[in-house]
Amino acid sequence: MLFRSLILGTSKFPPLRRLVTKSKLFRPLVRRFVAGETLDDAISAAETECEKGLFVSLDLLGENVATETEATQARRAYEEIIDRIAASPHKSEINISIKLTALGLDQGDEVAERNFRTLLSRAAQHDIFVRADMEASEYTERTIAMIERVFPDFANTGTVLQSYLHRTPGDVTKMIDLGARVRIVKGAYLEPASVAHQEKERVDQEYLIAAKRLLKDGHYPAIATQDQAIIEELKQFVVTENIAKDSFEWQMLYGIRRDLQEGLRKEGFNVRVYIPYGDQWYPYFTRRLAERPANLLFIIRSTVKG
Ligand SMILES: Cc1cc2nc3c(=O)[nH]c(=O)nc-3n(C[C@H](O)[C@H](O)[C@H](O)COP(=O)(O)OP(=O)(O)OC[C@H]3O[C@@H](n4cnc5c(N)ncnc54)[C@H](O)[C@@H]3O)c2cc1C
Repeated sequence: MLFRSLILGTSKFPPLRRLVTKSKLFRPLVRRFVAGETLDDAISAAETECEKGLFVSLDLLGENVATETEATQARRAYEEIIDRIAASPHKSEINISIKLTALGLDQGDEVAERNFRTLLSRAAQHDIFVRADMEASEYTERTIAMIERVFPDFANTGTVLQSYLHRTPGDVTKMIDLGARVRIVKGAYLEPASVAHQEKERVDQEYLIAAKRLLKDGHYPAIATQDQAIIEELKQFVVTENIAKDSFEWQMLYGIRRDLQEGLRKEGFNVRVYIPYGDQWYPYFTRRLAERPANLLFIIRSTVKG
């Protein structure tokens, strides 16, 4: 947890950001987590995963736009993704993940909602699901409220809940009652003790509680984790509770634990790979570094060797 706080805390310093985004040193590791910079790269990575029997969620990297114009541009870029998915032979296996701050949440709820509804309407025409990712805790309430407002008109959306937040058990109930799809994750941001559990054991424990509730009473939940111990416990739960394999899906990040992804698929589970792409990869990349000290060691080792 200390390593995580250190990386997430220092990553916001502009000189460090410049160093990481300009230096070639980080490129091999960035490419491990990010499918490429263009939509062509993303579609090609998605189709490769689909050919292995996996499902995909595409994320055009970008968050916290500065103006309404940028929010409109982000929406248009997502519309282009929808059209490309609709034209793919793997259309039914690919969906979209989006951050509401990319659609203008910092510019106001109305701006983000207008863009979100336009996008959902276009996606609905092609039967494509669009999930609102969950960002830092300052946005949680507004993201949940947005889903509550748009879901009655667009059943092709849902969101993400983070087990580290104290408020999540209440949000699980809300989303089950609403009928919206939930992706359960541990949570990737640096949050204070006033809003989030700080100990890994507690976050894991809360994850299991939320995931089990969603598996029993949720609506096609997504169990998103690379944590093998949690996966094993939930697999056992699914058997003892007689939960159908096709009533939920596992989700994992592109480039992480491919062995687990393919193993679960071979066991007959639905597995979706979250594929990020685009040139705005820095915040996503630092969150992935923060999750695993070994990722940073990989860079240090390549520097020493080079
Ligand atoms: C599909 C998907 C979507 C997500 N969406 C969101 C979201 O909307 N909002 C949000 O806050 N968070 C999101 N996350 C991130 C999540 O909150 C966690 O930060 C992340 O999944 C790591 O937690 P873990 O459950 O894998 O468990 P951990 O305890 O962090 O990791 C378990 C094991 O997984 C492997 N592993 C985990 N991370 C890495 C890594 N970066 N590099 C290499 N190996 C790794 C290691 O073997 C590690 O021991 C998402 C995660 C996934 C899988």
